[in-house]
Amino acid sequence: MAEEKKICPFCGAEMALHYTGWLAMRGNKVVQLTEDFIEAQLYLCPDCRFMAWFKPLTGVEQFEQEQQALEDTKDPVKKFEILFRDYSEKKLQKVIDGRDYLPEAKKAAQNLLCRKGE
Ligand SMILES: [Zn+2]
Repeated sequence: MAEEKKICPFCGAEMALHYTGWLAMRGNKVVQLTEDFIEAQLYLCPDCRFMAWFKPLTGVEQFEQEQQALEDTKDPVKKFEILFRDYSEKKLQKVIDGRDYLPEAKKAAQNLLCRKGE
């Protein structure tokens, strides 16, 4: 799943991922954190060099975003492509050969199988 685009608040350019690492949270006496370090991504604006830290999406957030993408997709073939994305070639072939699948599902499995072969 594509990461959400980060837009520079100053010049509106799309910021690029510059660094992924861990931020130390030592010495924070106001908020009691369970962890001393949090995973963070540093984004850099290519135009004005503005930098900002972002928290990467958690597994749950990523899942929710994918579900939303699924709901936003109107094309039934695309929808099946998203659903079948992690299927093995064997599993995709099963969909293509199976009798109980919709034509849209078969088409999606075929598309994915073609791309795997590239
Ligand atoms: Zn900028």
